[in-house]
Amino acid sequence: MSFHPPRRTLMGPGPSDVDPRISSALARPTIGHLDPAFIEFMDEIKVLLQYAFQTSNELTLPVSAPGSAGMEACFVNLLEAGDKVIVCQNGVFGGRMQENVVRCGAEAIMVQDEWGTAIDLDKVAAAIAEHPTAKVLAFVHAETSTGVESDAAALCQLAADAGMLSLVDTVTGLGGVEVAVDAWGADAVYSGTQKCLSCVPGLSPVTFSAKAAEVIQSRNTPVQSWFLDMNLVMGYWGGSTKRAYHHTAPVNTLYGLHEALTILHEEGLEASWARHRLNHEALKVGLESMGLELVVAERDRLPQLNLVSIPDGIDEAALRATLLNDYDLEIGAGLGVLAGKVWRIGLMGYSSRPTNVRLCLAALENSLIAQGLSLQGGKAVAAANAVYAA
Ligand SMILES: *Cc1c(COP(=O)(O)O)cnc(C)c1O
Repeated sequence: MSFHPPRRTLMGPGPSDVDPRISSALARPTIGHLDPAFIEFMDEIKVLLQYAFQTSNELTLPVSAPGSAGMEACFVNLLEAGDKVIVCQNGVFGGRMQENVVRCGAEAIMVQDEWGTAIDLDKVAAAIAEHPTAKVLAFVHAETSTGVESDAAALCQLAADAGMLSLVDTVTGLGGVEVAVDAWGADAVYSGTQKCLSCVPGLSPVTFSAKAAEVIQSRNTPVQSWFLDMNLVMGYWGGSTKRAYHHTAPVNTLYGLHEALTILHEEGLEASWARHRLNHEALKVGLESMGLELVVAERDRLPQLNLVSIPDGIDEAALRATLLNDYDLEIGAGLGVLAGKVWRIGLMGYSSRPTNVRLCLAALENSLIAQGLSLQGGKAVAAANAVYAA
């Protein structure tokens, strides 16, 4: 029997709602991954990715696997055994970076910050001063486990000043908040398709500066991963018109990414960031009207991922189940040290729209009332509407 998934509204930490334009692009006819028409189309994807990342880096392409593979691609290509890496951790994903470093046979020097706060620049500067021979400074620009944005421009500057390469995770950032690879001077940056690009999961856009590309091309040892070795991948994705088979590209998923990037280009980067901010603002006032608090300090908040504290006496897992079963609405649970303490409400890409904000507020309000909270029904949506009307 065919599988027919339920229709959900996705307001968790990803995947986000897929734009129907992208869904139909996915269904277009599959052609060969070396078809001349496909080669031309690949070049368009690269140009669209350069726009999204705000970079002119030639080595800009989608890795054929989800965001975690983009992370791994950055580490395995830049690192060789014995290298030192300063890794900033203020949530789950910094921990995964550490795991990648160690598995490359390199040494991870950890700079820890409280979960829910931004990366402390002074601590990073101190770690750089203490370990001046480190090769890479790695950090997460948009921490999805906590809804925090860190100062990527300043962190990349610290790395550059110390002669280190910067390695940036912006899986949740791209399309939702400013990502300016060239202006930041970032050297290796990866993202994902299923967050603010609102495409299906399964691809990871990456971009490497000329300096990073040089490091990759002049390694002493081969990249430990054959599949993710950029020296080999470039034989397929590279600039010349002669393309050699490396692996079979996920042809239809790439149709989806192309459509997602086209949508972003049509809307414009600034307009997309402004839309994410507006819907965040509407969600925020709606939540506050119910007495719910956003956990992250205002200046560090990611508009596309909202960390909400759970009121006393509420069974948070039961409430999420109610949202899913009665409203077909998915929101995220807390991760790691925040498990059971917060909800994570995503407003990413196509999910970042007024209809979703209103549905989420109404569903939360009703479900909190059902669990015994004394709230005035309808107040949350009215508060959000006031933001949209302003
Ligand atoms: C989602 C996410 C990843 C991993 O991406 P997958 O597509 O799940 O592999 C990495 N880093 C951050 C910050 C993320 O939010």
